[in-house]
Amino acid sequence: MTRALIIGGGIAGPVLAVALQSVGIDSVIYERGSVDDDRRGAWISFQANGMDALRAIGLAGPVEGIGYETDDISFVNGKGKPLGRMPMAARRPDGQTSILMPRADLYALLAEQAADRGIRIEYGKEFVGAEETATGVRSRFADGSTADGDFLVGADGIHSRVRQVIDPGAAAPRYVPVLNTGGYIPNFSLDAPDREFVMQFGTRCFFAWMKTPDGGAVWFANPPMPKEPAKGVLSGMSDADWRNWLRELMAGDAGPALDILDAAPGPLTGWTTYDMPVVENWHDGRGRMVLIGDAAHATSPSAGQGAAMSLEDAVILAQCLRDCSSTARAFETFVSLRRERVEKIVAYGHRGSARKAAGPVARVIRDAILPIGFRRAARDGGESMMWLQGHHIDFASKVA
Ligand SMILES: Cc1cc2nc3c(=O)[nH]c(=O)nc-3n(C[C@H](O)[C@H](O)[C@H](O)COP(=O)(O)OP(=O)(O)OC[C@H]3O[C@@H](n4cnc5c(N)ncnc54)[C@H](O)[C@@H]3O)c2cc1C
Repeated sequence: MTRALIIGGGIAGPVLAVALQSVGIDSVIYERGSVDDDRRGAWISFQANGMDALRAIGLAGPVEGIGYETDDISFVNGKGKPLGRMPMAARRPDGQTSILMPRADLYALLAEQAADRGIRIEYGKEFVGAEETATGVRSRFADGSTADGDFLVGADGIHSRVRQVIDPGAAAPRYVPVLNTGGYIPNFSLDAPDREFVMQFGTRCFFAWMKTPDGGAVWFANPPMPKEPAKGVLSGMSDADWRNWLRELMAGDAGPALDILDAAPGPLTGWTTYDMPVVENWHDGRGRMVLIGDAAHATSPSAGQGAAMSLEDAVILAQCLRDCSSTARAFETFVSLRRERVEKIVAYGHRGSARKAAGPVARVIRDAILPIGFRRAARDGGESMMWLQGHHIDFASKVA
């Protein structure tokens, strides 16, 4: 039986393993972290095309049970003036909408689903390098161990080591000049429409909130940070540092931001944002190594598409391996099916982040121009978002 080595047990890795199993390919996942790592993180907007990818391989059910469905998105400026309101996307034939969910829950659930299907996940295995062997590939890990397989998939995220092994000259991730922080507040009364995510282009900081049906609220903020913070700066920031800074940034703006910051359970932490615009070489050209997910094409969170794109990749790569005459052909076909779409999404996400980090002049222009775009999107009932969220995978059909 063909054996795949999957590096990374984040979002793409476990789903790829399940998809491969369904096409008769055995795999083992090697994850650098430990099984009970606190992979806490932001809440993510899990868009409908991500669920479509899971549905293609029978994995949607358990994920449908987490998070909160979101129908609409609205925008206000710092003064609270509405800039527009529109559906997250038009209605898909399957009725699927976007779901706001904790990133950590999605990770845990996908790993659990893979393990339930007998897929082995080895934790504490940090991939450091790989060599081609006569019949496949040998992966090396930081603990000195090795593993042999027919091919290796780098699902090891934006700072991918596999990407460097495939192409030592590969571009580094690009810093996006906004940080991320946020969380969930139980029992928090918020005057906001149901199932609507409200986004505020604040005077100094982008801030967002959504009322949840269980009487709580999800929120996030993207404080601007023009230069990439040095290593250790963010991890050195205390809860009080975050709160005080965010309060300063949101002071004077209309809306619930200050109340949210007062009520948000701590400790607040934050993340830097990167994206990965163009990775020239997604595979080694020899059918031994290939990249999927953020390792190949990370988008900034503004697109709300990182997870969904990674899942599309996982399922489509399995389809290619099932239908192509060799792994080399499968990797080429995979790239030809994916590159244009994901690079367009990365560019879209980057434009969104740039708007969040606008300076005073750009802010005036942005506030004048955005309502025109939002009005257009509202008029078309979300059809203009369907290139993102309307994506459908027919897993049974043969890839071209
Ligand atoms: C703050 C924030 C907000 C986000 N918001 C959204 C959103 O709203 N919507 C959305 O769709 N996406 C969002 N994303 C992006 C989304 O989380 C990623 O696109 C998605 O996780 C990519 O999946 P992946 O499997 O490719 O990589 P990851 O989920 O990053 O998984 C990579 C895995 O590889 C492991 N690994 C790394 N290096 C090695 C190594 N050398 N050896 C072994 N294992 C290794 C890591 O530990 C990790 O488990 C957000 C991300 C962040 C940080």
